[in-house]
Amino acid sequence: MTATPAPSPTLFPLGDGTGSVSLVQHVGDDKSVVNAARISFGGDSDAPLNDRDEKLIRYLLRHQHGSPFEHNLITFKIVCPIFVDRQLVRHRVGVSKNEVSARYVEVQERNFTPPRFRKQAPSNRQASVEDDGTLDQARAAQVWQEAWRGAFGAYQDLLGLGVTREQARGVLPLSLYTESYYTFNVRSLLHFLGLRDHEGAQYETRLFARAMAELAEPLFPVTFREWRLLHAAH
Ligand SMILES: Cc1cc2nc3c(=O)[nH]c(=O)nc-3n(C[C@H](O)[C@H](O)[C@H](O)COP(=O)(O)OP(=O)(O)OC[C@H]3O[C@@H](n4cnc5c(N)ncnc54)[C@H](O)[C@@H]3O)c2cc1C
Repeated sequence: MTATPAPSPTLFPLGDGTGSVSLVQHVGDDKSVVNAARISFGGDSDAPLNDRDEKLIRYLLRHQHGSPFEHNLITFKIVCPIFVDRQLVRHRVGVSKNEVSARYVEVQERNFTPPRFRKQAPSNRQASVEDDGTLDQARAAQVWQEAWRGAFGAYQDLLGLGVTREQARGVLPLSLYTESYYTFNVRSLLHFLGLRDHEGAQYETRLFARAMAELAEPLFPVTFREWRLLHAAH
């Protein structure tokens, strides 16, 4: 009898029940990394991963032999605000993407509202800092909601007037949710995580990066363990 596959796990990094990362599919494991490296001397095998294999993974990572980490793939379905997606899409190498088309389908009423607003960092012009109690959280939330309702209402009005979807979407804000399939290989995923699960990255994007890591790590546990050890040392 064929076993029913377990449902793909879905994580909700923003805690609002809408923003999500799901594992759609994956190919490869730690052993396939080792086999890709050992094919150079005809030493690939079906044997389970052993200590020598783990040492080889460590060696490959430490010496930046990246190509053995490319013979695999991990596909995520990512539902995120457009401002997060604009950062994800900058990762060009070893990453494939397909996204819902707002020309093709009417945009759903899905808007991210920060549960808590942050302040502009005083020194780093790209960064934010936690509210020290001087920010009017309630008023900020009200302004945000009014802006969203106005924009989404305008979108619906334009559609009602007969304006095409591809033009009407122009009034929608960056907090609108979009959804995509993203496929990484482990090399491109680790590069992505190094940049986006980092204190310099935007907080919301970092939450998505962490969710992606949480789903990918059990698929390549030795690779992730050695990569984390290497990162911790730097
Ligand atoms: C904290 C942070 C702040 C950022 N701020 C900004 C910003 O203000 N404005 C902005 O525009 N972007 C910004 N970015 C995006 C950033 O510049 C990169 O585009 C993004 O992080 C993708 O990184 P990458 O190019 O290494 O990745 P990939 O595109 O996946 O490339 C992977 C690697 O391939 C090589 N590579 C890729 N393309 C080329 C090429 N054309 N020529 C030579 N080598 C190549 C490089 O070694 C590169 O590291 C920011 C990113 C971060 C993490």
